[in-house]
Amino acid sequence: VGRVPELPEVETVRRMLESRVIGGVVRGVRLSGLRLREPVSKTLPRRLKGRRLESLGRRGKYLIFGFDGALSMISHLGMSGRWLFHAEPPARRPPHVHVRIAFENEAEIWFEDPRRFGLLRLVATPQLDRDASLRLLGPDPMTDAPDAGALHALARGTRVSIKSFLLDQRRIAGIGNIYASEILYRARVDPRRAAGRLKRPEWAAISERIPEVLGEAIDRMGTTFSMYRTVTGEMGSFGEQLRVYDRAGEACGVCGQPIRRIVQAQRSTYFCARCQRRGA
Ligand SMILES: [Zn+2]
Repeated sequence: VGRVPELPEVETVRRMLESRVIGGVVRGVRLSGLRLREPVSKTLPRRLKGRRLESLGRRGKYLIFGFDGALSMISHLGMSGRWLFHAEPPARRPPHVHVRIAFENEAEIWFEDPRRFGLLRLVATPQLDRDASLRLLGPDPMTDAPDAGALHALARGTRVSIKSFLLDQRRIAGIGNIYASEILYRARVDPRRAAGRLKRPEWAAISERIPEVLGEAIDRMGTTFSMYRTVTGEMGSFGEQLRVYDRAGEACGVCGQPIRRIVQAQRSTYFCARCQRRGA
């Protein structure tokens, strides 16, 4: 838990798919027939066949495949989902591939998901904003980053910790457990502080660090823990850059104190109790 794809991993997948399959026309789609987070529509093959993939978007951790004829397919990787690209698909299909989309140029993209918490859903493109999942999402920190004032206003009156606040997809979409710890460490804000009590300079530091940390992670194709790979099977290399996440007991790079691990809302948080002073 906590090692699931976050915005940088999803953005990496988006970029890699975009450069490989945009413009492709769907020749056929095959389904495993197994249920994911929700059942995959049996009409998906019929509805996608013959359509051209025109765009690949992302909102928070959701990928949005835009086809001609105003049809979109939204995808969420869940706990263990991944998209794989094959210029020439291998004869043997590994287990856990639930959707195979073949393009007319022979390339295929496969959605693999052993734990089956992922999501694939067709939505009419004009209805995307009203989709049950997408409409709940807050602004995307890479395309629509909230500034210090906006964050301060969003948090007014809330008692949740700043760590939980950053994980709430309804407030900001895309930050997960790994990057929340990293953002707060760099912003020097104690993860246990109530979000509603942070001062303007702290929001300024946080708003500056959010795109910085996520941007650096995207540049390194994300962080690989257990399942995540890019669409061609490479591992992301941001893991080497993590300063606190999964480093309990190691020395803080700034002050030398051991990094601490605590549990907040059933999820691990890593921080330096000296650098991230309470109420500083
Ligand atoms: Zn420190």
